[in-house]
Amino acid sequence: MYLHEFQAKGLLRQYGVPVPDGGVASVASDALRVAKELKGDAWVLKVQVHAGGRGKAGGVKVVNAFSEVYDEATRMIGMKIVTKQTGPEGKIARRILVEKATDIQKEIYLSFLVDRDSEQCMIIASAEGGVEIEEVAKENPAAVVKENINPVTGMGLFLGRKIAKRIGLDSSLLNKFAEVANKLYQCFVDHDGMMLEINPLVVTGDGEILCLDAKMTVDENALYRHPKIAEMKDYGELEPQEVRASIFDLSYVSMEGNIGCMVNGAGLAMATMDIIKSFGGEPANFLDVGGGADVNKVREAFKIILTDPKVKVIFVNIFGGIVRCDLIAQGVLTASEEVPSDRHIVVRLDGTNVEEGRRILEEGAAKSGLNIVTGETMADAAKKAVQLAAGNIEQKEEKPSTKAADKGGAK
Ligand code: GDP
Ligand code: MN
Repeated sequence: MYLHEFQAKGLLRQYGVPVPDGGVASVASDALRVAKELKGDAWVLKVQVHAGGRGKAGGVKVVNAFSEVYDEATRMIGMKIVTKQTGPEGKIARRILVEKATDIQKEIYLSFLVDRDSEQCMIIASAEGGVEIEEVAKENPAAVVKENINPVTGMGLFLGRKIAKRIGLDSSLLNKFAEVANKLYQCFVDHDGMMLEINPLVVTGDGEILCLDAKMTVDENALYRHPKIAEMKDYGELEPQEVRASIFDLSYVSMEGNIGCMVNGAGLAMATMDIIKSFGGEPANFLDVGGGADVNKVREAFKIILTDPKVKVIFVNIFGGIVRCDLIAQGVLTASEEVPSDRHIVVRLDGTNVEEGRRILEEGAAKSGLNIVTGETMADAAKKAVQLAAGNIEQKEEKPSTKAADKGGAK
């Protein structure tokens, strides 16, 4: 889960990490109020969206007068911001962060992430901050310093000082940098962070260290032990499908293809995507309805898949272990009534009460004329889904033969 900059900075502040003073506003008058409370003569306004690269896209502005605060806030709140990370459709900025502007002497890059190769956290730093680290890594890899962090001993001031030295910080800053890096690491680990990126971490005009930006993502699967973080989830930033999936407790990830998948169990869902690919098709999503899938979950899963206009075929692949196939079949039939006639449904069921489940599907489909094709095996169903998605087979011809095959019995 992605945190907004202001949310991440709120957490960092609790750990004693130096961040600029500021406040959030969703209307221009509030932005002005925040600036007045902050006092001073220069402020920075920053759109709060789940994406970086805001500076280049007009989403970060330094202003020097209250009237400018008001005018820029009016422009920025509600603006569509398009950066490399938002994709071409962009994101709407519903809120801005108003901060006291900082006098910058030097911009540094600092981040923490979970490094799967070493199975440890990693700290990455570079003296070339403020720009995209990917660019630095490409053009001047020697300028990017990486160190693993031992999970037992933690960061320690030693590692912080070592990094500071390697990126060429002035010796007067080594201890300050090490202390800040330690607090950042602690905050990262305590919240089950996946990534914490401070770009830029700056040295201010008077030689202090300050985190000017903060991008943080935390492990969604660990939210159960961080209720306060869970509350920070901004549903306004999610795709409508993701919101629905989140509410109904379904794991959903949108993808590029045209075969919508509805599967129970993450392993089977992965296998389903693989088999679609191996037959030359492209999955439109990963969707795991969970072990205890019931009729309601099936219906919600259909709704989520159907909100994706790319989907031509819905591939239902359910193994009835805990849940019975006849109940799932009933759920599929009910949900299918809402599926437009130009979309096909391919169902592969196996497990408890599979014969009963198939009978319900076939009879129901025959009676109502729904576009439901059943597959005898996973491969058979996947092949049919791929062919239907490619428009290679006519459903009407396919139906009777499928039925005949299914009557042949489950193996
Ligand atoms: P990002 O583009 O989304 O990563 O947003 P950042 O928060 O990193 O801001 C982009 C850039 O704006 C920074 O690298 C700074 O150069 C500049 N910037 C941000 N805040 C201030 C500030 O308070 N004072 C000054 N002078 N520049 C700032
Ligand atoms: Mn940044």
